[in-house]
Amino acid sequence: MSCCFLKRLLPFAALICLGAFPIIVNSQSKPLVVATASIFADMANAIGGDLIEVQSIVPIGGDPHIYEPTPGDVRLLLKADLILKNGLTFEGWLESLIANSGSKAPAITLTEGINPITSSQYQNATDPHAWMDPVNGKVYVQNIRKAFAAMLPEHTAAIDSAAESYLARLDALDAYIREQIRRIDSTKRILITSHDAFHYFGRRYGIQLEAILGTSTDADVRPSDIVRVQEVIRQNKVPAVFLESTINPKLLQQIATDNRIRIGGKLYSDSLGEEGSPAGTYIGMIRHNTDVIVDGLTQSSPNSGMEESGTRSNLIWLLVGILVVLGTGAFLLSTRKKSTR
Ligand code: ZN
Repeated sequence: MSCCFLKRLLPFAALICLGAFPIIVNSQSKPLVVATASIFADMANAIGGDLIEVQSIVPIGGDPHIYEPTPGDVRLLLKADLILKNGLTFEGWLESLIANSGSKAPAITLTEGINPITSSQYQNATDPHAWMDPVNGKVYVQNIRKAFAAMLPEHTAAIDSAAESYLARLDALDAYIREQIRRIDSTKRILITSHDAFHYFGRRYGIQLEAILGTSTDADVRPSDIVRVQEVIRQNKVPAVFLESTINPKLLQQIATDNRIRIGGKLYSDSLGEEGSPAGTYIGMIRHNTDVIVDGLTQSSPNSGMEESGTRSNLIWLLVGILVVLGTGAFLLSTRKKSTR
């Protein structure tokens, strides 16, 4: 009797253990796409529109390099129909999260097909920040388009149309960046940031990158990196350094103070800005970064300004000195003439 009772309870116990999620999956009207970071969630929204529901694991402002998954993420992945990840070691925590959730959703690597940058500082390390170059962004879009068309074959036409218009916007963004970067003096095209997230951007648009941290944010700052960055600032009279939205600004602020240069503004690399803000979408974020960088690097260095004003005041004092000497000479000459009469 009791054994029979237990057998009847088993299916309910299994459902309780799973949080009753299979029921929610079946009742979903739209497929759930789970992206690891807000940037990829925005791309997915732009291409899938009303056909899908999109959620990001790492929230806006969070740092995906050092993200610690929550029980809520386990439940979210179990409901997912498709997972979008960057790959290139960006989401070191994802594999075990998927395994723990028991999710069977396909995980699409968005960087499939890009030409990755290998780190110059760390052996066998690949730079994950491929989306920072909007031409790479087009590869992300094509991968999303393919995955969505396979998931919703009856909506291929709508998905293709949305993808095409998004690709055209990325072409326009690429042209805009090229035009803007040309405004920066070629000797001043040096971008100093907290962590190495801008190499793909720099490779595409001809900007030298110098960062205090490497391509991930989980390493400690090495004194040699600070010395290297300070040297670059001094030798090239770099006018500004740039903060990042997901990283503690203290060290860069100190470097700016020590070198008497500006904070050029805040850049977005691993997370979008708040919803509705200029950097609240992928395209908006890259455009915002471009505007901030161009604005910061087209202004003269406060240091050189101080040197210039110093030189100017020295000249003024020299002129005053000459006038005083000439005036005194003229006065003495006139008094001598008077006395000889
Ligand atoms: Zn990063």
